[in-house]
Amino acid sequence: MDYPKHFKPESLMMSYGYKSSLSEGAIKTPIFQTSTFAFESAEAGKKFFEVAYGLREKDPNEELGLIYSRLNNPDLEILEDRLTLWDKAEEAAVFESGMSAITTVLMEFLKPGQFVLYSSPVYGGTDHFINHVLPKYGVSGIAFKATATKEEIRKQVEDAGAVGKVGLIYTETPANPTIALVDIAMCRVLADELSVGDEKVYVAVDNTLMGPLWSHPLDHGADMVVYSATKYIGGHSDVIAGACLGSKEVIGRIKTLRTFFGNMAGPWTGWLLMRSLETLKVRMEKQATNATQVAEFLASNTKVEKVHYLGMIEEADPQYAIYKRQYESPGAMLSFEIKGGEKEAFKFLNSLKLIKLAVSLGSTESLAEHPKTMTHIDVSPDDQKTFGITDNLVRISVGVENPEDLIWDIKQALEQV
Ligand SMILES: *Cc1c(COP(=O)(O)O)cnc(C)c1O
Repeated sequence: MDYPKHFKPESLMMSYGYKSSLSEGAIKTPIFQTSTFAFESAEAGKKFFEVAYGLREKDPNEELGLIYSRLNNPDLEILEDRLTLWDKAEEAAVFESGMSAITTVLMEFLKPGQFVLYSSPVYGGTDHFINHVLPKYGVSGIAFKATATKEEIRKQVEDAGAVGKVGLIYTETPANPTIALVDIAMCRVLADELSVGDEKVYVAVDNTLMGPLWSHPLDHGADMVVYSATKYIGGHSDVIAGACLGSKEVIGRIKTLRTFFGNMAGPWTGWLLMRSLETLKVRMEKQATNATQVAEFLASNTKVEKVHYLGMIEEADPQYAIYKRQYESPGAMLSFEIKGGEKEAFKFLNSLKLIKLAVSLGSTESLAEHPKTMTHIDVSPDDQKTFGITDNLVRISVGVENPEDLIWDIKQALEQV
C-alpha cells in the first residue's frame, strides 16, 4: 500500500494494509472466519510453505500466501500491519491475550540456567509466571525496584551470581498502580553491559498503560514492546487480546513460537481490534484530558491525602526527567489515597454511581478499584508497603464520559465517606 510517508497513523487506521479489490470492494475488512485457505495450485501451496517454514526468503514482489489460520489470517495480518505504525516497528504479532504475548516473549528469550531481570511491581500475571512457572524450566527472576539506579541493579546481578547469565531485561513502566517510572534507556545500557559476546541481552517493555499513543519504547532502546490489547487498544472492555512489536528478527522468533503454542488471536478478535484502532487516538486523547481534570479535582479535595498522576510529578523529582523523555502525555490512569483506610476507600467505591467498580483499564467507561484487595492482593505485604499499595489507595482508569459528570460522581462519593 503506497501512502505518503508523512501520513500519521490515525489517518491510516481505516485502510492501511487492506485491498478492497480482494474482497468484492468491501470498504471494511471482512471477518475471515475460516480455519484454512484453498491454494490455487499445488505449486502455489508448495511456495507458501517454503516461506512459512523458513526454507527460503520471500521474493520482494511475492504476495505471502495464506495457509492455515494458526499461521496467518487476513484479520491478523492487516491488524499487525496497522499496529506497527504507532510504534514504528518493523513487525508485530497479535495474541489471544496480553498474558500469551508476555509468556511467549519470556519463553522465547530465556533458557535454562538464565535469569530474567525484571522491574517490580509488574502485572500480577507476569509476576506469577516469572516466580512460579519459569523456575520449573530452570529460569530465575531478579526483581529490581522501578526507581533503582543502574549501579544498584548491577550489584543485585552480581550478588545473585547472575553475571553472564541474564537473558532478558523485562520492565513495565509506568508501574501499576503507583506510576513509578523505569528508565528504558538505562535498561538498554545495562543490557549491553551484561551481554557476553554475541549472546545479546534483550530488553522488553510492557507498554500497556501508555501505549501505543504516548510512549514508544523502541525509540529508547527496547528490543520489543508488549501490550495487553485488552486495554487501550481494544478500548471497549469487550475483547481479550495481546500484541508484541519489534524488529523483523525478534518478531520472526516470536511468531515461530506462537505457531507452536497456537496462541494467536482469532479472526473475530482481529476484526474487533481493527475497529477499535480507528478511534484509538480520539479515545485516548479524550481520556487523558478527562484524567487531568479528575486529578486536579482530587488534589483539591479535603478528603484526599495524595494523588498519583504522571501530570503531577514535581520538577524537582528525579522521575520528572524520565517522564519528559519517555512520555508525550500524562495518560489516563491515576490513583489516590483517601484520608482513612480500607473502610473509607470501600465507602467511596460503593458510593460511585457512574464510575463502575471493576478491574481492568483503558476502556471507554471509567473504572475504579482497590488495588490492595483486588489487583494486587497477591503482592506480599512487604512489597505492598515498599510500592505504596496501601489500605487507602484507590485506582481509577478514566474513560471518555463528560468530565463534569465524572467529577460530580467522585465528589458525591467522597461526600458519603
Ligand atoms: C491487563 C494487563 C496484562 C495482561 O493482559 P491480558 O490481556 O489480561 O492477558 C499485562 N500487563 C498489563 C500492564 C496489564 O494491564
